[in-house]
Amino acid sequence: MNNNLREILIEKYIKEDKSIILIAEEFGICSASVYNYLKKYKIKIKSLSYSHRNQISFFKGKKFSKEHRENLSKTHQGKILSKKQKQKISKNNSRYWAGKKRPKLAEKMKGHIVSEETKRKQSLIRGGTGIPHENADYPAVFCSIKKDILKRDNFICQYCGMTQKEHFKKYGRNIEVHHIDYNKFNCEESNLITLCHKCNIRANYNRDYWYAYYKYITENLK
Ligand SMILES: [Zn+2]
Repeated sequence: MNNNLREILIEKYIKEDKSIILIAEEFGICSASVYNYLKKYKIKIKSLSYSHRNQISFFKGKKFSKEHRENLSKTHQGKILSKKQKQKISKNNSRYWAGKKRPKLAEKMKGHIVSEETKRKQSLIRGGTGIPHENADYPAVFCSIKKDILKRDNFICQYCGMTQKEHFKKYGRNIEVHHIDYNKFNCEESNLITLCHKCNIRANYNRDYWYAYYKYITENLK
């Protein structure tokens, strides 16, 4: 190859902004050779996202089958996204919505019926037991006795020792009061105990164990 090759490559690849594949076709050589020449002459290789900037995404306008969507959902369940991934998603979202009017969620959901299965999932995600609206209707008496319980327990989680201040910092809301026998209508003082959000959720599993444990603690408070 002649000494002008570097200049030719710069002309085609940089100035004319042609792709490696196009240049390879033009010269009748394989694209790997073009790639190697670019490297050899220290010409910066364009990034993949730059090379693909005008390509239409394979997924654009395509719809996944119900089965595929369910599989996708299963794979992503319980997955924790890194900060970087979240930023990327948010960036992509704002790019998608740029200049468009976002539909109001309330309008979008009008007349939409949430299935029992979805409600169950929502309850589980929020740390509930899977029974929809299980915690929605506490009796009024609970609201008033709650304050006394918090005072009795010094606004401190009786399991891990988290204070009200720490709780607010971490969860943005007040420390919680737990029904030891899981019956929200039993608002006896001996049936209530102050717990942080995490310990409260933990008490939803292994109920027999936690019932015995907190029963023992409240009995020994006296
Ligand atoms: Zn706790």
